[in-house]
Parts: sequence; C-alpha cells; structure tokens
Amino acid sequence: MIYLTTTATTIPRVLQQVSEQASWIEGVEIRADLLDPTELSGLTTLARAVRDCSSGLKVLGTIRREADGGRWTGEESKRRILLDRLSRAGFDLVDLESDLPTVDAERSGATIVRSLHDLKGTPANLERLASTLPRNPGEVAKVAVTPQSTAELVAIFRAADRLRDLPHVLLGMGPFGVPSRILTRRLGNMLTFASAPGESAAPGHLTPRALSELYRLASHRDSTRWFAVVGNPIAHSRSPAYHNGRFAEEGIDAVYVPVLVDAVAPLFELADALPLSGFSVTIPHKRGVLALLSQMGDDVRAAQACNTVLRTPSGWRGVNTDVIGFLAPLDEVLDDPLRGASVLLLGAGGSARAVGYALLSRGAKVSIWNRTASHARALAGDLAGLGVDGTVDVLEQGSEGVSASAPTVDIVVNTTSVGMNGEGDPVPWYHFRGHEVVYDIVYTPPQTPLIVRAAHAGCRVVTGDRMFAAQAAAQYELYRSIATAGGPDV
Ligand code: NAP
Repeated sequence: MIYLTTTATTIPRVLQQVSEQASWIEGVEIRADLLDPTELSGLTTLARAVRDCSSGLKVLGTIRREADGGRWTGEESKRRILLDRLSRAGFDLVDLESDLPTVDAERSGATIVRSLHDLKGTPANLERLASTLPRNPGEVAKVAVTPQSTAELVAIFRAADRLRDLPHVLLGMGPFGVPSRILTRRLGNMLTFASAPGESAAPGHLTPRALSELYRLASHRDSTRWFAVVGNPIAHSRSPAYHNGRFAEEGIDAVYVPVLVDAVAPLFELADALPLSGFSVTIPHKRGVLALLSQMGDDVRAAQACNTVLRTPSGWRGVNTDVIGFLAPLDEVLDDPLRGASVLLLGAGGSARAVGYALLSRGAKVSIWNRTASHARALAGDLAGLGVDGTVDVLEQGSEGVSASAPTVDIVVNTTSVGMNGEGDPVPWYHFRGHEVVYDIVYTPPQTPLIVRAAHAGCRVVTGDRMFAAQAAAQYELYRSIATAGGPDV
C-alpha cells in the first residue's frame, strides 16, 4: 500500500496534494508537525476531508518530534493532546513513538503504528527492536533506520524475514535504503511512504507515481522475479525506466530496482537475500564483481569487465553486453565488413577494453590513441594477448602524427569521457575527411561536440545512446529468459 506523506503547511494545500496524487495511493500520512500551528485546529475534520478527495483512502496521523526527524518543536503535552484528538477524529491509524507513555489514543479504536527512528545508522538488533515495539495486540511495529552501507541494507531484509508474523514496516531511509521503499511486499511491510514530486518528506522517498507505475507495487507477488542495477552513484541510472518499461509492456512478472552499492561482497549477499535473478553492473563495480563470479563469458574475460550478472543453478554467470551493444549500431551503418577496416580508437579506459575486444574479434586493424600513452600500451598488450583475429598498435605520436594517419582511417571511435555534458572534443585538431564513420560512445548528451563536428564534415555518425539502447536490449533478453523460464531457479 502506497501512503502519500503530506508536506504542506496549510490544510487546503494538504488536500490539494492528496487530490493530485490520489490516482497512485491507497493512504495518506498527515504530517501534522509540518502544518503551520494556526492550522492545527482544522485537524479534527481533516480525515473526512481527505476521504472526500478520494473515497477509500486510509488516513494515518503523525506528529513527528525533531529528535525523530520531524519538525514539532511545541510542548510535548500539547502534542499528546493532539494525538488523542486525531484518534477520535476518524484517523484510521495514529503514529505513536515507542517511548510515549500510555495515551488515550491507544484506547481509541484507531490502529496504532508504534514507531522507532534511527536517523544515524542501523542498530544491530533490528529484529528484536521491532518485535518488542507493540504494546497491545494489533499494533504495527514501524522501524525506520538509516543504512550507511549496502551491508546494512542486507540486515534490513534479513530482519524482515524473521518478522513474518508481526504486522510491521521496516524501512531504510536515505540513498542506501531506496530498495526498501520499493520492495514493500518482499519485506512483508504493511505500507510504504512516498512524497509528492519535488517535496521529499523523508530522505529516499520516491513519488507515488514512480512506485505505482514504474515499480508496479500492486503487481508484486511471491512469484515476482527481482532484478537490479547496482553502482555508485546510481540515482540517475536510466536502466530502471528501460527494464521496468519492457517488463510491463510484455506483462512479465519481474521488477527492476536501483541499488546503491559500496562494496561487492555485500552486493552478492543482497543478491542471495532478495533473491535477485540478475543484475546490471555499472561504475565502479564492473571489474570488482569478477572475483565473485563462478562463470564468465569470453567477452567478460577479454574486457576484464562485466556489466550483467545472471543467476544460474551453478552460481553467478557474468556477461558483457557492452561488446554486442557496441557492435550492433556499427553494423547498421557500415557498408563494408569490419574485417580489415582501419580503426582509430580514442581512449584506453574501461569501455575501451570492451570496444577494443569487439573490434578485434571482428578482424579490424585497431590503432589506440590516449592522453596517457602508457595506458594505451597496456591495453594494446592485453588485447594482443587475446588471440583474436584483428591487429592492434599504439599511436605514440602527438596530434600531428595522429592527424597524418587520417586519410587511411575508416572508423573513429571515441571511448574517452571527453564530451560528457556536451563539453569538449577529445581531438579538436583532427581533420575529418568525410569518408569516415565516427562513433562516440558518450551518450550524455548523444550530440557531443565530436559528433556535431564529424556530421558537419559529412561523416556517417553513430551516437552513444544507440550503444546504450543496444546493450540494454541485449541485457533485457537475458533477464526475460530468466523471468519467463518457469519455476524458480534459486
Ligand atoms: P574510464 O575508464 O574512466 O576511461 C576514461 C578515458 O577517458 C581514459 O582513456 C582517459 O584517459 C580519458 N580521458 C578522461 N579525461 C580526459 C581528458 N580530459 N582528455 C583526454 N582524455 C581523457 O571511463 P569509461 O568507463 O571507459 O567511460 C568512458 C565514457 O564512455 C563515459 O562517458 C561513459 O559514460 C561512456 N560509456 C558509454 C556506454 C554506452 O553504452 N554508450 C557504455 C560505457 C561507457 P587517461 O587514460 O589518460 O586517464
């Protein structure tokens, strides 16, 4: 159940927030501590007014103290009087902190949410803390902690598994806790909280629409397959939109969540705990995950990087869809086969490894040029040792030497990060002849200065968003085959 946590300071604005979000929510948490004190007299009719906005909505009343992350700074005795009043004013649920002495609200007939907040970390004894919260039968134990690591997120899921018989809400606040706001059903949580767009009531809140439409909370079942994208940072990844969109389009019982990961060992613990059926790996873990794979494809071995991890009955298998994702759009624009084509490869970082392997596996003649020549030499040495068809060398000369090779270059590929945010050209001195295919894998934005300049010179161009889409499509096929394979493979 998705509850909108209101953030407005006036009652008319609270009701406006409810009306605007009503299509995606089943309940509303009225945060009375955020209301202007002059509005508090209107609380007694607010539950009814919320239901007038949209019938069937459950209403939870909360007056959060500053010590628990709220804004109530008034007298504690006044707060308790207000809490009692809420419980008699048609609120379905009332939030009472665990340390409150008995108040009338407990005798009111409203469901009590007995809450405990840790704004700094995740206590070790989560399960015991939660199970000792309720004072009376029927109370809901709510524990909101602030995980500071992926390991602490794992602890939340493990604790939830041991609380199956207790009505509970176990949440991680902040960036590490985001999956706990989405995987409500997996955690056995009674509800999850969300905020109106641009109005975050608590760290890590998503919008009701994102929870409802992107993550399809109402569709989660015991049979649902969980997938993820893992990295650091992760909040801006486009992968959840892509994969959840495709799962929804095809009616596949699978959901894909973003997970902030600070270390690979707890990532694999999380993958076991959820369990994940597969996950996409992004910066900075593409190399780190290799140590925990039990099988890897040639593409992963060659690129020494893995962007896709799949659960198999015999352990985790690593795949690198950047290789196929790079080649697919190139094949679409090339008139001639790649075999024997002369390629100028700019850059010698992580993605240059996958791109270099892709080109060599098709028999291309690759010349690497990089800002730091020693990195180019190391990459060329590794690629040459792979025993694939093509040839590889390093352009040690400065800009003049590289420019001199231009007439014989068929394809220029940029794998440096220059051009991100629309800034910079990795080779501003390079003169395009117009016969080349120019491929820039940078996709933020796709129209990089290099692409604009090459197109202006008459070159055929391939933009990085096409590689992104092709590698994501290849990943999706792998995830879909797991998600539709029938019984659980875990
Ligand atoms: P990386 O491992 O950090 O490598 C960065 C490369 O850029 C290195 O060769 C580095 O040279 C060079 N470089 C950085 N700053 C430079 C500068 N100011 N001038 C000249 N060269 C510079 O990064 P990566 O993982 O390979 O990613 C590179 C880019 O590819 C990123 O923009 C990423 O978003 C994009 N990418 C796109 C896709 C896609 O699907 N389209 C997939 C993967 C990556 P040094 O060796 O001298 O440091």
